[in-house]
Amino acid sequence: MDKHLQKIQIYFDKILPNAKCELIYCQDYELLIAVILSAQTTDKKVNAVTPRLFQKYPSLTALSNASIVDVENIIHSIGLYRNKAKNIVETSKILVQKYHSTVPSTFEDLCSLPGVGRKTANVVRAELFHIPSIAVDTHVERCAKRLGLASKEDNPYQVELKLEQIIPQNRQILFHHQMIHFGRYYCFSRSPHCEKCELKEICTYYKEKVLNV
Ligand code: SF4
Repeated sequence: MDKHLQKIQIYFDKILPNAKCELIYCQDYELLIAVILSAQTTDKKVNAVTPRLFQKYPSLTALSNASIVDVENIIHSIGLYRNKAKNIVETSKILVQKYHSTVPSTFEDLCSLPGVGRKTANVVRAELFHIPSIAVDTHVERCAKRLGLASKEDNPYQVELKLEQIIPQNRQILFHHQMIHFGRYYCFSRSPHCEKCELKEICTYYKEKVLNV
């Protein structure tokens, strides 16, 4: 592993040793539904609506038979709620009918479900099946670019491929959570906490925006 990456990992282990998924769930399908709901919104907002959703529809079968309008009412405080309500009811139907009420583990099966893209599939594979994966959300993309692990021009898929190539497989799940937490709590999109950050000397953002070099 190169020194650059080693420095990042040592710092992440120091400030975020226990980074993990912040979505609250009990059953496997609840995690999948929560990740679908988390697109373009925060985990905090998702965690505010899922207890009521899962209490009212306490099984995949119940959720697959839910009225979309009722689901919309329960999740209306999160972004894109109309589409998400349709997707989670439809996904539940498919899980019941095609997968015997289980969550599939293959990338292809997951991505075939309504509302599930690369990011959601990677989160589910890592969290439920412990399969080394890097899910690239807005935090991971921003931090990877600032820290020189990806290029500014890279799209999320290119960032994913680059991170998967350089991060050892046995570190990928933890590193992914650490990147998310680093972006969420330290390296904000606007006004990141640079003064206290020990990665300043390798950070392109710091050099360009703070030092103006
Ligand atoms: S120096 Fe600032 S922008 Fe760079 S990684 Fe640290 S917090 Fe983020």
